[in-house]
Amino acid sequence: MNTSLGCPFSCHYCCINSVFGQPRARYWSLEKVLSWLDLLADKGVRNIRFDDELFILSPKRVERFCDMVIERNRDLNFWVYARPDTVPTSLLKKMKKAGVNWICLGIESGNKAVRDDVNKKIKGDIKSVVRAMQQQDIFVLGNYMFGLPEDTLETMEDTLRLAMDLNCEFSNFYTVMALPGSRLYDLASQQTGGLPENWNAFSQLSRDTQPMSTTHLAPAKVLEFRDEAFYRYLENDQYQRMVRARFGEKTLAHIQGMLDVKIERELTA
Ligand code: SF4
Repeated sequence: MNTSLGCPFSCHYCCINSVFGQPRARYWSLEKVLSWLDLLADKGVRNIRFDDELFILSPKRVERFCDMVIERNRDLNFWVYARPDTVPTSLLKKMKKAGVNWICLGIESGNKAVRDDVNKKIKGDIKSVVRAMQQQDIFVLGNYMFGLPEDTLETMEDTLRLAMDLNCEFSNFYTVMALPGSRLYDLASQQTGGLPENWNAFSQLSRDTQPMSTTHLAPAKVLEFRDEAFYRYLENDQYQRMVRARFGEKTLAHIQGMLDVKIERELTA
């Protein structure tokens, strides 16, 4: 479901603002949203992912949403998106009570200068926000990007180190793509060979994927780092112990199954 469209921020790698021509968000009324929820819940739907770019943005709206859901006393299970600096930690308990069990966070880089360079200026301390969510037993999915314009091998290592330290229930590791409509697309289009020649190459998991180069690294190096980071994260003991304790052996076996498949790439360093 969506309860809003758009985003008031303007990160350079993101293309969401191209839809509206400016950084802003539009919302459906919570009365309307709850009427859709009622309709779904009446049909037996329990698991709902809100696809809003930033479901958690206005604390007032989030709190009212939670109150309205809690009042209905439905057993629902929500997935929502947020930035680390839009999460009101004082509301986490109420969110959990309403059924918000997963929060997907755009963390992107473990290096502040790299984040700031693409206008992802996260205020406050990422780690304390994640710990506050974990204390409320809310699962966290951390989103990270490798190959932002100012990334070096050292700053990408900062990102992986942060991911391992946060030890979120799952982590997505992306390479940076020149997404049409983003500021980085404009940058890449000015470079010879900066843009992929076919749509497959924009796909993160395709054999011929083509991430952007950074000021310091070729695309192949970024891709190699990303693929290794995926295995380093999922194979590390601390992560596997957490998965076993929180989700059980079956989930751990599923993760092991993923690790057994080695991804093939045409671009090699
Ligand atoms: S990355 Fe997230 S915060 Fe940044 S513009 Fe896109 S949706 Fe908004």
